[in-house]
Amino acid sequence: MQRTFAIIKPDAVKKGVSGQILARIEGAGFTVRGMRMIHMSKGEAEGFYHVHSARPFFGGLTDFMSSGPCVVLCLEAPDAIKQWRDLMGATDPAKAEAGTMRKDFGASIDNNATHGSDAPETAAFELGYFFRGMEL
Ligand code: ATP
Ligand code: MG
Repeated sequence: MQRTFAIIKPDAVKKGVSGQILARIEGAGFTVRGMRMIHMSKGEAEGFYHVHSARPFFGGLTDFMSSGPCVVLCLEAPDAIKQWRDLMGATDPAKAEAGTMRKDFGASIDNNATHGSDAPETAAFELGYFFRGMEL
């Protein structure tokens, strides 16, 4: 078993598709081990996406992530990191395959509905950033 960190981003919460996304997560066989709705401050979003701090889209990305409530999740499944990345689809919804979260619920590369950790080290950092040990 492996755990990964996921976010239902502010655009998806605002559109009212959190329930549909959760149903797909559960339907795909993930166990939800942690779940909370939060509204990140700009600083909290900057800390979360610190690896992108030198990128030109960093300001817009952290404005977006702090623009409204989102749902943070700990998901468990065999090979969860890759399985959730596959279910999310490509970063740019226009390039994502049919049936993926980003194709079906994302509007653009800036408003792409979901986040998923990309490696075991990032999953550990991201889960620890949003959840205390006793919550999981
Ligand atoms: P995430 O980390 O949100 O799950 P990802 O791992 O698919 O997405 P990253 O390269 O980590 O993609 O980029 C983080 C986020 O930054 C993306 O989800 C996207 O919203 C935004 N982003 C990435 N590349 C660009 C770009 N070229 N232009 C605008 N926004 C971008
Ligand atoms: Mg990423």
